[in-house]
Amino acid sequence: MLKRLRVLFVAVVVLAALLAAAAPALAVQRPTRVMIVVMDQMQPEYAKQYKMKNVLWLQNKGVNFPTAWVGDMASETVVSHNVMVSGLFPKHMGWSDEAFRDVDNILGYGENAIVTSGDLGTSAYVKLIENMDYPKLGDYLKLKFPGKIVANVGQKGYQVESMAASSSDFWVRMGSKKKTADLADPFSPSSVPWTGTYRGASGQVPSYIASDPRFLVSVGNASDTYGTDTTAPALLYPEDGRYVVDSYEGHQSGDNWVADAATMIMEKEDWSGLWVTFSSIDKIGHMWGGGAIDTEATYGWDPASIFRQIHMPWVAKNADDQLGKLIAKLKELGQFNDTLIVVTADHGATYGAAPDGFKGVNAYDAGNKYNWYAGAWHAGSSTVSTSTGSPALKPLMDTGNVDFSYQSTAIETWLKDRNMTKKKEAAAVMTDLPGVIATYIKNGDRYKLFSSSPTMTAAERAWWALTGQELVDTMCFAGSADLVGLLADKTSYGVFGDHGGAQMDVQRIPMAWYMPGMKHSVNNAKMRLVDIMPTILKTMGIKATEPMDGMAYSLRLPK
Ligand SMILES: [Zn+2]
Repeated sequence: MLKRLRVLFVAVVVLAALLAAAAPALAVQRPTRVMIVVMDQMQPEYAKQYKMKNVLWLQNKGVNFPTAWVGDMASETVVSHNVMVSGLFPKHMGWSDEAFRDVDNILGYGENAIVTSGDLGTSAYVKLIENMDYPKLGDYLKLKFPGKIVANVGQKGYQVESMAASSSDFWVRMGSKKKTADLADPFSPSSVPWTGTYRGASGQVPSYIASDPRFLVSVGNASDTYGTDTTAPALLYPEDGRYVVDSYEGHQSGDNWVADAATMIMEKEDWSGLWVTFSSIDKIGHMWGGGAIDTEATYGWDPASIFRQIHMPWVAKNADDQLGKLIAKLKELGQFNDTLIVVTADHGATYGAAPDGFKGVNAYDAGNKYNWYAGAWHAGSSTVSTSTGSPALKPLMDTGNVDFSYQSTAIETWLKDRNMTKKKEAAAVMTDLPGVIATYIKNGDRYKLFSSSPTMTAAERAWWALTGQELVDTMCFAGSADLVGLLADKTSYGVFGDHGGAQMDVQRIPMAWYMPGMKHSVNNAKMRLVDIMPTILKTMGIKATEPMDGMAYSLRLPK
């Protein structure tokens, strides 16, 4: 029996036993709904730096974990979102990085095919989850609250669909780009105030969102880039219209689109779980390098300026305003008092600091074209995509033994010939790549340290000694990279602002828990993403019947 189904069976038995026994004394008020709000790529400092008043309010009224961290690798969107709702380390999820080797040909591209995780859709994630056989938070919620739905909303396909896969009823994200001239019923070209191209809601979309023209947004037109396609370093990964709210009245994009879809679901559905991801902080961070650079002093809030929308002060404040909309809707619907709210991020951020911290090609769309991926891979299709990678990676590619390599703020490489001698040869080359501070070789179900750099700063060494081995091992499974190269602080191979590795700046995240009446506290434990699901289950009084890698924290609930 699949463990997802076994969860249902065991819980029914437990419930029957509880009912048969004397009624337990339930002194505390437990939440009957949980809302996870992910601020993609938010660093903990942003809350104060950008005056994110709703995040600060939740931190100051609920339980705040100021030293929370991702706690696993890879610190990537498509990995972290499923960690949060599985309670599992990436090595137990079916995919643990931006790419994996499909050892057992689960997806049908051939035995040992390299597949990029971010190019997959729900049905593929479901296959990977069923192969690893684990229940998700949504499965437990649906058992505890029969008839109530679980839903996910966000801008990006891989973010929403990986998190939703196998346990959500609705998942809503922006779909592929289409021509406005081809708009079909219930819409017509006259339903949008621009011509050219657009994106609409996609996924498993409720009819009231699918039929609402507000969710069509202008994407891919010349005016949707706000100059980011011609300005360095943003041009490495420029805005296309999905993350800036934009000026088309009634057709708001960005985090407003997400909040509007989420609040509609709250209104129309009887829900127990809602996962909402705001992605604009991530996009702006990738383009400009995040909070250390993109400051209030330079690009402060100006509601009248559309160009402020491509910088962090505007976007962070706006993301916070959207969180405020969700809270206001909970209050309006009378749901606030029984909802547990979790605000966190899927990873932090760093950037390629001058003079030479950025190791990729510095050109238009170079993140996608050259920098992130090198080698050959299946992008969710039987067709093989290829790239030679950026010049910085050339010594590694020149070994002739690279199947695929992914580089962001770490380098992860899958080899063709994987005998130990060949792995060591390639690891020696990786050791000498610019910015590499530690190189690991996969050996069974662990990574073994091959080399570490004497040039690490004291801060880098302290953090690496504390976390390096633990982090790389959380992604080690049959399909994971054969070699891992951890990179120095403020070093990136992908785009100017990036994440994915083990650096302190990409690992540290905000983490606030709130329910009305909860006793406020500041908890200096190093809570991880993998601890979210067990903590939610414990807080809601749901017994976990399958093992998780995370641990449950105790939150003081109202009596
Ligand atoms: Zn992310």
